Amino acid sequence: MAEHSDPAGRMATEAARPRAELGGPADAATPRAEPSRPAEAASVRAELRLPDRVRFSQLPPLALYMHLPWCVRKCPYCDFNSHEVGASGQRPAHPEPGTAGPGPHAIPVTTPITTPVTTPFADSGHALDPALERRYVDCLRRDLESALPTIWGRPVHTVFLGGGTPSLFSPDAIDVLLSSVRALLPLVPAAEITLEANPGTVDVGRFEGFRQAGVNRVSIGVQSFDGRHLEALGRIHDARAARAAAEAAARHFDNFNLDLMYGLPGQRPADCERDIAFALEYEPPHLSVYNLTLEPNTVFAKYPPQLPDEDAIADMQDAIEARLAHAGFEHYEVSAHARPGRRCRHNLNYWQFGDYLGIGAGAHSKLSLPDRVLRQARYRQPGSYMDAAERGAPIAEAHEVAPRELPFEFMLNALRLTEGVPVTLFSERTGLDLAVVARRIGAAVADGLLDPDPMRIRPTPLGLRFLNDLQQRFLD
Ligand code: SF4
Repeated sequence: MAEHSDPAGRMATEAARPRAELGGPADAATPRAEPSRPAEAASVRAELRLPDRVRFSQLPPLALYMHLPWCVRKCPYCDFNSHEVGASGQRPAHPEPGTAGPGPHAIPVTTPITTPVTTPFADSGHALDPALERRYVDCLRRDLESALPTIWGRPVHTVFLGGGTPSLFSPDAIDVLLSSVRALLPLVPAAEITLEANPGTVDVGRFEGFRQAGVNRVSIGVQSFDGRHLEALGRIHDARAARAAAEAAARHFDNFNLDLMYGLPGQRPADCERDIAFALEYEPPHLSVYNLTLEPNTVFAKYPPQLPDEDAIADMQDAIEARLAHAGFEHYEVSAHARPGRRCRHNLNYWQFGDYLGIGAGAHSKLSLPDRVLRQARYRQPGSYMDAAERGAPIAEAHEVAPRELPFEFMLNALRLTEGVPVTLFSERTGLDLAVVARRIGAAVADGLLDPDPMRIRPTPLGLRFLNDLQQRFLD
């Protein structure tokens, strides 16, 4: 689990997959709708029919996501495109004690998960095979080169190296990768460059090396500071490694995020509060705090652990929000809390329905052209992806997003932001007239789910509580 891995964060990998299955019957061709006007005035009219084509006067900001798909071991709750190091025919640098080695059966199939791999922080011993690392970095460069015609000349505002476990890659490999990015793309000055790190795979030297390679923000998948809960989650690191990684992040990076999870097997509200208190000791500029959910096709879905009941989870959530607000954090997105000026710019771009090029195994892209929005997906299996990238054809699937799907896609993201977005952003990012959703906005305002402010599309506290229902009102 990692910062980009909450439902909105998955935009770059999973949740941003084409949503054609959600659309209804195609609309008949219509002329382009009238110019935008405030939601309140528009709501008195019937919604306009959708045009065949969208039109952008200005393209959205562009971000780059790079997926590094390997992990030491698959966590039993994880539904991301992550692959155990050994699953691609490679071996971990040091086979894990007490296991039969890497492979699809390396995770126990009963819960709670058995003893985690304890990884002394100063020498985690986990690394990718150098030949695999070189090949994958080379494939990312080829992938980026082949993508250039679709983003030609557009400045890139943020870069995110997500996974998987990007910190399995050596600082030298990250240096080569970021050098290619800088050579091929116009990065804006002071672009945010984030790398996700797992406490079981980093040591002090690696952090310093990542920083020298140009990474200016790290996101640490701590999940908990309590060894019992890390064990129940099947994490490869223990509490000592979690604390050491947080400390090293604070020492080497001015800007960093800690990921935490709550609602864990056996967790009580007091345990959750202790995790938050531990995290605050490192004075993180950003905290992402996720509720553990049982996702389909995971070990936890097949063998569900005993989770805290709904009341306990609600108490944890209330305690987290109160404690972080008291500590000066802004709760700006469902799972994200930041000190003023420290919001994650990369994820904000997803939530504001900006554009992103996703390269690497299984990565998804959303790219706007003057008259349409494209979605692409790269080959998912690392081996297939590398073969395809070497052939110069890494894209497994691409299609144009139908205009009727864009309102829901926009709302799926924007409504996660506690402050919402300006109404004008709807047209700027979808290329559609606001009037196409005016009736549905009006109905959500009437039901107390959206704020009546005509200048913003902003969920109310009730709307945030019933976010799925609110988002689904914008399905075609
Ligand atoms: S470390 Fe993160 S990406 Fe890898 S298996 Fe665990 S949750 Fe998934």
